[in-house]
Parts: sequence; structure tokens; C-alpha cells
Amino acid sequence: MITRSPDLLQSVIPTVANDARDWQTQLAQAIRDPRELLARLGLDDHWLPGANQGHALFEVRVPEAYLARMRPKDPQDPLLRQVLPVTAETDSVTGFVSDPLEEAEHTPRRGLIHKYHGRVLLIASPACAINCRYCFRRHFPYAENSPSRAQWEETLAYLANDPSIQEAILSGGDPLASGDKRLAWLVERLGEIAHLRRLRIHTRLPVVIPDRVDDALLAWLQATRLQTVMVLHINHPNEIDAAVVEACTRLRGAGVTLLNQSVLLRGINDDVGTLEELSERLFSAGVLPYYLHVLDPVAGAAHFDVPDSEALTLVDELRTRLAGFLLPRLVREVPGEASKTPL
Ligand code: SF4
Repeated sequence: MITRSPDLLQSVIPTVANDARDWQTQLAQAIRDPRELLARLGLDDHWLPGANQGHALFEVRVPEAYLARMRPKDPQDPLLRQVLPVTAETDSVTGFVSDPLEEAEHTPRRGLIHKYHGRVLLIASPACAINCRYCFRRHFPYAENSPSRAQWEETLAYLANDPSIQEAILSGGDPLASGDKRLAWLVERLGEIAHLRRLRIHTRLPVVIPDRVDDALLAWLQATRLQTVMVLHINHPNEIDAAVVEACTRLRGAGVTLLNQSVLLRGINDDVGTLEELSERLFSAGVLPYYLHVLDPVAGAAHFDVPDSEALTLVDELRTRLAGFLLPRLVREVPGEASKTPL
């Protein structure tokens, strides 16, 4: 089973607090048992053997706030399908591999991925608030990429010594699964590197636990001199409820530019009406649709794949329905390429 070790989780998930609405509590109490997930949605045990098979490869993790947006008794619910393990994850499919983006080739320091000119990606947390079944990092060796404070100093020195780096990207896992004290320290140190201009944060936490956007988070976001961009990850319009809209409003109020990237997923958002509604709802929440990724060919996720020809047809149709600024760019990440590759 792919689990993120208790030690690692302990290092990033802060101590549980008393307030039941507190994001740390919600993170600690996320559903981690396939049987409980099915029971909470009123689904029978018919789905359990498959769920257990997938769970053995990559554990279930679903926060309550995300579960609350699913339709009870609907095994095809588009949010449930993103998180419910299935037997197909055990299929071995040619071309679907454990490290589809060959990130291991671009890891000059523990927790640091330097693939693109001018930008570096820092693995700021080994944990996620939710485990998405299609995740391209579902096999990522987080245990080997969780830097200590001393290793962070080496990473900061690497950035300081390369004036071509203008942007630091916090990724994970989900960087916002880390505590604010740790993140505030890191962002303050990044801000001291004169040639850095931007901080980018790739996160799903404001979507799956909107209470993550609290005063402590906003404080360090507002304190940095770096221009800050947050790239959310929302695949379906049903993921955007009132609490997500409020979280986005607070982030924008703190001067954060909000973008979204989605993954095109078979059976979840592979129809033009869903993608159109997603762009509209994103923009209403103050989030610009940015990328629509085709699936990275990660082992265990082949059943989510949508062929390129179908993806192109969908986006052509979407173009006739949406204003240009609401149309996400259809891209693929190709190992070794200097940027994302448009389809
Ligand atoms: S939140 Fe992002 S990194 Fe975490 S499992 Fe989902 S897709 Fe992967």
C-alpha cells in the first residue's frame, strides 16, 4: 500500500485543535477507510472489494467538507469517482508508469525539482488533504523528498545562487497541508532572495477544506513582497460551493491571483456542458481557467484516460460556447520538454 508515513504526516499536520471547524481537525479526521466512505454515501458493499484493491495501492483520503458535496447513493457522482478506488487501478496498461513525468531525473536536491527555465518546484509537503485516484504523483517517493530544516537551507542556497530563477513554486503533496509557521518561515526566506519575483502555490486545499483559508494563512500571504499566484485544482463544477467561493474571495482580498488547472477525466468532466459550466463557475468565483491537462500516464489511472482526438473535439466545441478568456489551454506535460505542450 502507498501510505505516507505517520512520521511524515506528523511533521506536516499540526496538532489537532479544539475547534471542530478548524482546518487541522478536518485534515486529521479525513475519511481513510473505503468502507466508511461507501457507508457515509449510502452505497452498498458491492463496491467494497474494488475499493479495497485500489486502497491497497494508494490509500483513500477524503475530507468531510468534500464528501458533503457528493450526491448520496450515486456511485457515478463526479466527485466520488475522483476519490473512490476501483479494481481497474490494479490493471497493468502499456505506457502507464510510476513516474510519468520523469521527475526523478530533475531532482538536484532533496525536495527540489528544476525542470523549466526560470522556475523551480519545491516539495513543501509530503501530504495531501485528499487522495485523487488519477494523481500523477501517486507513486512519488515523498519519504525521500521531505527536506529537514538544514536541507531547506541548501535548497534556499541553490535558489540564491541561480539568478535565472524568478519563480518559486510550492507543490507537494499539497503545500498548504503544512502548518502556517513553517510556510511563513519558508516564504519569508524566499522573499529575501532578491532575484525571485513570484511565488506560485499549487494547491487543492482551499477547494477540499475551504476553512484552510484562515487568518494565519492570509497573514503570511499578505506579508511577502513576492507576487503571489495560487493555482487551484478543480475538475468539476460541483466542487465549487459557497464555502469555496468565500475562500477564493478572501484569497483575492489578500492580493493573490487565482488560476485553475483541471485534468480531463473519463466519466467525470469529459463532456462539453460540464467543462463550460466549470469555466463559468470558476470565473464567478474570481478564478481564471488556466490549463486543462490531458491525463499523465500514471500506473493505476488508465481508466480515466480520454484520447487526444476526443479532447481536441471537446475543446473545439467549448471554444464556440465560451469567451476566449474562459477557455482553458489544453496541454500535456511531456518529459524533457521546456514547457507544457499544447495539443
Ligand atoms: S491534491 Fe494534487 S497532489 Fe494531492 S493527490 Fe490530489 S492531484 Fe495529487
